[in-house]
Amino acid sequence: KAVMEGYGQRLMRGRFPQVVLFIEIEPDQVDVNVHPAKQEVRFKKAAHVFDQIRSAIDKALSPPAHGQIIKKDIWRSQPFQVHEPETCLWSHDITPTPQPPGGFVPLPQEIASMALFEPEIRIVGQLGKTYILCETHHGLLIVDQHAAHERILYEELKASMAESGLEIQRLLVPVEIELGQKEARVVEENVETLKTLGIEVEHFGGQSFLIHTIPALLGNIDPKEIVQNLILTIKEGRPGGGELVYNLLEVMACHGSVRAGQDLSYEEMVGLISRLKEMKLPTNCPHGRPITRHLSYRDLEKMFKRIV
Ligand SMILES: [Zn+2]
Repeated sequence: KAVMEGYGQRLMRGRFPQVVLFIEIEPDQVDVNVHPAKQEVRFKKAAHVFDQIRSAIDKALSPPAHGQIIKKDIWRSQPFQVHEPETCLWSHDITPTPQPPGGFVPLPQEIASMALFEPEIRIVGQLGKTYILCETHHGLLIVDQHAAHERILYEELKASMAESGLEIQRLLVPVEIELGQKEARVVEENVETLKTLGIEVEHFGGQSFLIHTIPALLGNIDPKEIVQNLILTIKEGRPGGGELVYNLLEVMACHGSVRAGQDLSYEEMVGLISRLKEMKLPTNCPHGRPITRHLSYRDLEKMFKRIV
């Protein structure tokens, strides 16, 4: 459980990591007399060990926080330059700095997220109205626009809920929603939870409800659609465990995000990438899907048989 909590949203639902843990501990902190064949031991301070494991894994998987801001005019001021390998200003080997302790080998998505923090990223364009392509010093960074925006909205919603409660946007005309019997009961039982999420609903007779507010951060979502999806999530329970309210925030982030297939302007792409860099977990969307992938010059050279 500590390992899973350490991974947090970095894993797809239903996936499990393979982990080898080395735990060094004072012998007197372990009780070896709990199992006749010594197949199990008990830690005296189990909660402390749990915490250490969780935070060590979280730390090992976190990209180094550089917090550099994207250079907005880089695409104008610096024409694309192809460097021959000999004259290359940078090494083709990715040497992530700083290295997390313990000889940790980064996973491909961690390399991608390190590429995200390179000081100079040039946005090349949008591919298939779904991916943002960026040139980095090490190659090509591919960003899934929906997953990136989902991560940003999720963290913003979570932060603003923790700080002062979600800012709401009152609908000019309340939206009426007609529900089935079960759904109506779910709403009645969860009026307060919905309110915490910035959604005020009022019983409007029978199985009909009025939606008065939506979270301001979500902007142009369809109030009916979001309420229906929240009801569905409450009904289905929590697939990943954890607190219901965070599962509901995930649903809201997903619906409020740009979709795949949506045109983005250059400025929108710059905005998305620079906000993504500020996120606590810029590697995965709240459902655990990767946000970025990286194709290094080395990968490309192999692909084109420049090197074998
Ligand atoms: Zn997602």
